[in-house]
Amino acid sequence: MAPPADDRKFSSWSLIPVLSLKEEQELKGYDSGHVIPPLSTFFAAPITDKKQISRLSQALYLQYPLSHTQRHLKRVRACQYNLEILLRPIMPEDRVTLLKNNVDPSKQNNGCPENSVGSKSEINLQVTDILQGGYINLNGLGKPFIVSVPSRAARNQKEQQVWGSIWPCTYHAKLKTPDKDEGNSKEGVSEQEKLRIGRNMHRALEAAQQNQSKGGKGVGAVVVDPESGKVLAIGTDHTIAKACPLLHACMVAIDLIAQQQGGGAYVGLSSVEEKDRERINEETGKRMEPKGDEREKRKHSKAKDGDAEIPYLCTGYEVYVTQEPCVMCSMALLHSRVSTVYYGCSSIGGALGTYYRLHCSSGLNHRFLAYRGVLEDECRRLVCGDEI
Ligand SMILES: [Zn+2]
Repeated sequence: MAPPADDRKFSSWSLIPVLSLKEEQELKGYDSGHVIPPLSTFFAAPITDKKQISRLSQALYLQYPLSHTQRHLKRVRACQYNLEILLRPIMPEDRVTLLKNNVDPSKQNNGCPENSVGSKSEINLQVTDILQGGYINLNGLGKPFIVSVPSRAARNQKEQQVWGSIWPCTYHAKLKTPDKDEGNSKEGVSEQEKLRIGRNMHRALEAAQQNQSKGGKGVGAVVVDPESGKVLAIGTDHTIAKACPLLHACMVAIDLIAQQQGGGAYVGLSSVEEKDRERINEETGKRMEPKGDEREKRKHSKAKDGDAEIPYLCTGYEVYVTQEPCVMCSMALLHSRVSTVYYGCSSIGGALGTYYRLHCSSGLNHRFLAYRGVLEDECRRLVCGDEI
């Protein structure tokens, strides 16, 4: 899709992921070159007969399958002179046996990339001691040892480089994983994706400008279904027009989604938002979905595709808001199950990076991605002097 002609009038902007404190510390670790991955320990053994690789891999896969949290691990690695295979993870009940062999399993997790070879420990056990039960033909396996391996999948390419130096791992890049070195642009997303994000924020800006011209605050929020690309709701700050301190732009946008699904708490928003809708329809030449029967329409549409599941409120949706949401709006976004929030400029007391990081708080029952900096200069100019 070609970008709108007026994209050129915007100043340059950067998409900046709002990370948790832990993620920020990890990034600092990358920059300093010291990344210590979380490790877990496995029994492993060299493969002395390469003809047995396929049979052994299959037998171990059936008898000792990797759990869903271990599926990033490749079962076999190639070393300088031979191949090595993961037999099974070390379990708590192995502790007594290992202590008898002068191996303390709790001290096996201290490996790091620089001494990954050192994370491999010899043990005085036979393969038959480890793979008990006699279900597997052990021909082709050498003397077992203990090895430390990454206990979770790599979340970005830098982690993958470190992880792979310890034990071979699979890696599936996710577009929205905060990683400034991935993708085609320096922010970790493709230029096409950045244009799409900018266009959606442009809609929030337009709504905010319109609201401001009517005497309201210059804050706008847009809800987008990333699957279809459709704008599902456009909300603006109604605290002045409705004399209601709750009606921040995000609250209005979420309520409009709820109204489309037969709910909603605030009466009288529809008529105001309808004007925004019609204006944007005229300017973009695109039809936005009418209200009211949207949920029914989507239900039928999904049913045709064989998927009758209807998302709850904003589940899976993106929200574009010109200013960093406050605590109230951020909690409403969290409870409505948004997937990603993009905002333009930061705000005092903002809850997605400035004062709190509610989107990645471990104590809450939903998390979402947050990015700041989208059309930041335009958003800041618009809301200058206003509080969201
Ligand atoms: Zn708010």
